Amino acid sequence: MAQEPGGARGKTESRAVVRTVEPGSSAICAHCGAPVKFVARAQLRQVIANVYVNATWDRVEHYHADCYEEANEPYGSPNSDQGRADHR
Ligand SMILES: [Zn+2]
Repeated sequence: MAQEPGGARGKTESRAVVRTVEPGSSAICAHCGAPVKFVARAQLRQVIANVYVNATWDRVEHYHADCYEEANEPYGSPNSDQGRADHR
């Protein structure tokens, strides 16, 4: 459903994925500035954005899933890539 047309991966464009927050995460939310912390039993989600500047990878930004929506999805709708990355 969220597949990109033509199978292009858009490797030189900023993009975002939704991931579960993992223990030991020390990322800071780029929207609210608070840590994106693992909370036992809460299954929190974060958005990880690969940010490209001038078609070159520049940095990774982390957001709370809610904050990313609040920020109006600056890097597009996040893809859920949990099925591929996790073996559970
Ligand atoms: Zn936040």
